[in-house]
Amino acid sequence: MLKGSCLCGKVRYEVSGEIEEVSMCHCKQCQKAQGSAFAAVAPIRSADFRITQGAEYLKEYRATPDKARVFCAECGSPIYSARDDRPEAKRLRLGTLDTPISPNKRYHAWVSWFELADGLPKFPQASR
Ligand SMILES: [Zn+2]
Ligand SMILES: [Zn+2]
Repeated sequence: MLKGSCLCGKVRYEVSGEIEEVSMCHCKQCQKAQGSAFAAVAPIRSADFRITQGAEYLKEYRATPDKARVFCAECGSPIYSARDDRPEAKRLRLGTLDTPISPNKRYHAWVSWFELADGLPKFPQASR
């Protein structure tokens, strides 16, 4: 069981199973949403994800109409995103995890200005 929380700690969640795939997304939306060069994101099954505390603090923002970016309204930490046409899946923002992980599959998508020297696969757009 993996556990995570936002910066202020009001929102807490659990993920059952392992994080197996990590996408470092450098798209402009993720850059703005994180205020950073890229977002570290993992696809997870919605059935494996549970908010254990602070669901009332969650707020969503839609930069595109069919995709909710869900964050803590108190501290601003991004928690996950979810597409309306894929309710079975979420994309977790891994910076909020409290449990250490060691995922096998890692890659960069929408690579832009940040110089990468980690040897991982790099895609000019989404990975697929
Ligand atoms: Zn918070
Ligand atoms: Zn992105």
